[in-house]
Amino acid sequence: MTPGQGAGPARAPRMTDRPLTCAVPTLLPLTLVSAALSMARTPDSVTETVYCDRAAHQAGLHYGLIAEADATHAVWALWEPRGTPHLRVLPDCPEISPDRMDGCSLYARHRGAHTWQAHDPEDGPAGSKVAALPTR
Ligand SMILES: [Zn+2]
Ligand SMILES: [Zn+2]
Repeated sequence: MTPGQGAGPARAPRMTDRPLTCAVPTLLPLTLVSAALSMARTPDSVTETVYCDRAAHQAGLHYGLIAEADATHAVWALWEPRGTPHLRVLPDCPEISPDRMDGCSLYARHRGAHTWQAHDPEDGPAGSKVAALPTR
């Protein structure tokens, strides 16, 4: 597979101009929390409040990572702005950073920046969230 193919802008983002993470929150209904618990490989990471993990975006659904489902898939909450969330199991984004230190924690074929390109506004420097994921 050719690096840079598919998702994202063609031009390489500059290190000083990283996009922000969307981070819009939603609250999962209890029925979805229990459904997510049954799908998750790591049930203790399932929480009621989910934040959009996409790079800041103007249009389209919000996607919040809930938990890993297996080694190559994760359980996501998808929701319209101000809409009701629903669950999807999506394959992981296969891209890794150029220095091979970080994997992308978004889903395959997402639009916008990979997580190792984006700042989380609450985390400061990028990477702490990715570093918290179990290694494969
Ligand atoms: Zn969003
Ligand atoms: Zn990615």
